[in-house]
Amino acid sequence: MSKIVVIGAGPAGCSAGYHLARSGHQVTLIDKESFPRDKICGDGVSLQSVQALFTMGIYPQDIKGKVSEFAPINGLVLGVSNGNYHIQTTQLEGYCIPRFVFDNLLYERAINAGCVPLTQSVTNIDRHHQALYNDFDYIIDARGVYAGEANAIAIRAYWSIKLEDFPEAYLSLAQIYFDKTLGVNGYGWIFPADIKAGLVKLNVGVGVWIDEYQKMNTNIIRLFDQFVQRNETTKELLSKIVSKQKPKAYPLATALKGNRVSYGKLLKIGDAANLTDPLTGEGIANAIESGLHVTQAINMSTSQELAAENWQRLYETCFEEDIRAALRIKSFRKYSFMNNMLLWLMKRNHRFSEQVTYAIVGSVPYNELLPSLKH
Ligand SMILES: Cc1cc2nc3c(=O)[nH]c(=O)nc-3n(C[C@H](O)[C@H](O)[C@H](O)COP(=O)(O)OP(=O)(O)OC[C@H]3O[C@@H](n4cnc5c(N)ncnc54)[C@H](O)[C@@H]3O)c2cc1C
Repeated sequence: MSKIVVIGAGPAGCSAGYHLARSGHQVTLIDKESFPRDKICGDGVSLQSVQALFTMGIYPQDIKGKVSEFAPINGLVLGVSNGNYHIQTTQLEGYCIPRFVFDNLLYERAINAGCVPLTQSVTNIDRHHQALYNDFDYIIDARGVYAGEANAIAIRAYWSIKLEDFPEAYLSLAQIYFDKTLGVNGYGWIFPADIKAGLVKLNVGVGVWIDEYQKMNTNIIRLFDQFVQRNETTKELLSKIVSKQKPKAYPLATALKGNRVSYGKLLKIGDAANLTDPLTGEGIANAIESGLHVTQAINMSTSQELAAENWQRLYETCFEEDIRAALRIKSFRKYSFMNNMLLWLMKRNHRFSEQVTYAIVGSVPYNELLPSLKH
């Protein structure tokens, strides 16, 4: 049994805490905020995330019966903002759940598994943070994007609209636009986040890559306004919105090739290990999965050196190939004609359309999709 501190109680930290505590380790789970707390996000719990949640003993019935805010998602609208889009439904259901609610569910799971909670901000974790290195056998860094390399930025707003004013066909669809109106490589989304008392709460947002964004004479709020005013669906909805929250921005740590995630006793997971999908900005699934794999690395190792080596190796085996495929697809996607061609092919070939959709929701790896795209 080891003494382990997990710093950060988002999906990655809660997953690591849950699995480590259940394996018999003594786990302290630290977060700078007390729960429930918000996290700026699209709130999309993809099929890959739904499957990852099974490893924490969280099943659809726990979501449907107990979660105070949620919307089921069983398909994707994939499009570009000029009105060219394609709809593909899925056999299985994902969700949209505000992170204020979702993260608390995971947090409770970790605490019930035996993690000892502590509210404290921990900065400068490195070899010089002597107290941590003296007190614990392992330090799991799950502090999210600020502990990783921020390379994208996204902005989110909640809108509410009367149920009768929202197109019924879109009620359980996630809309993702590879958005050319942004004038920069990015994406926009419209997700239903809750449907209650005759109102639909929508999570509306935009994500862009920082290197491209910095070259532009604009700001993220302007890009958000541009998206909502030019996108066919949001343009249509704007006049019917009954309440709007101010959009809030937050950085993302999208995946990097050849990333290092082990530094002796210090093991990085989730966004701290840059595990967000570079195509969609989806990071919850990899965050949860990385919490499970880091536990396996610790459990299979007889020393801290081996655990570090095993976590680095597991990271490369479980994530690296898919990251490389996603980055290759991302490089095609910045060309408008490629996005239009993708939609054209999806409209004509149902099997291909399913393959793309399931890759986007994470239940088919991008490296399986890549050969079809090349043809
Ligand atoms: C606008 C936006 C939209 C997104 N949409 C989606 C989506 O729809 N679906 C999806 O799957 N992903 C989405 N993502 C990505 C997703 O939010 C992240 O990938 C995911 O939250 C990563 O989980 P994590 O546990 O690694 O980090 P986080 O969720 O960021 O959790 C980190 C935790 O560490 C704590 N912490 C930070 N610093 C310290 C410190 N110094 N001391 C102690 N504690 C600390 C924080 O309080 C937090 O609780 C989106 C991201 C953004 C910005």
